[in-house]
Amino acid sequence: MSGCIFCKIISGEIPSKKVYEDDQCYAFYDLDPQAPTHFLVIPKTHIESALAIDEENSAVVGHCYAVIAKIAREKGLESYRVVTNCGLQAGQSVFHLHFHVLAGRDMTWPPG
Ligand code: AMP
Repeated sequence: MSGCIFCKIISGEIPSKKVYEDDQCYAFYDLDPQAPTHFLVIPKTHIESALAIDEENSAVVGHCYAVIAKIAREKGLESYRVVTNCGLQAGQSVFHLHFHVLAGRDMTWPPG
């Protein structure tokens, strides 16, 4: 989608530090890490947010979670948190569905 920074990262128009890529998703390190390990996994199809997931496009969500587990196993991450901020009040700043994967420090609950 034109104007979407994550679509531009997928196309290579904006540089990123790639973690993983396949035909359905792309993973890259977050520019502003909130934990020693912090990367994002995004579907290649533009889905605006978790609120836009439906029966038609939800398969890629399961795929993203499988990819997250695969990357975690490869990186030896035994404990990690997956976060999806949905909407402005929840802290979403980029409106292309993404899964934050955070690891390498103690996490608090509930999140702020
Ligand atoms: P959210 O605020 O949940 O929408 O998450 C968006 C995330 O994207 C933030 O953690 C940003 O630091 C990250 N981000 C924004 N632009 C870039 C970029 N060009 N490369 C890597 N991460 C980015």
